[in-house]
Amino acid sequence: MEANSAGQSIESYCGKCKKSLDHTVMTMEGDVVAKVRCKTCGSLHKFRNPLDAQKVPKPRAKKGSGEESTAEIVWEASLAKAKGKEREYDMAAKYRVGDVVNHRTFGKGIVVKLYSNKCDMLFKDRERLMASANVL
Ligand SMILES: [Zn+2]
Repeated sequence: MEANSAGQSIESYCGKCKKSLDHTVMTMEGDVVAKVRCKTCGSLHKFRNPLDAQKVPKPRAKKGSGEESTAEIVWEASLAKAKGKEREYDMAAKYRVGDVVNHRTFGKGIVVKLYSNKCDMLFKDRERLMASANVL
């Protein structure tokens, strides 16, 4: 006698109920349970082994790490493209877009936008508005 067959009860993870519940086997694919119907909510869905469902990695938190790594990728790409000379950050200096500055606290930054007496510099973690001697 087969372990599972259509019509039998089986424990499966239900995506609607969001937990492992008793299901009725609806279709089989060989020896494998294909589709099941949830006895609680009545939805028909693929069989999901409750043990496998527990192994599914939790989605990464959207806040924090994700954004930081995106900023870092942009920063690395900008740094690779930057053609300006690398120099120490000096608020009394004039900058051009693409200049690379070395900031004592923030590290390497790329000048991305100029304003009067200030400019946007992209640092590893985020963009910062920095003082400069630029005159527009
Ligand atoms: Zn359900």
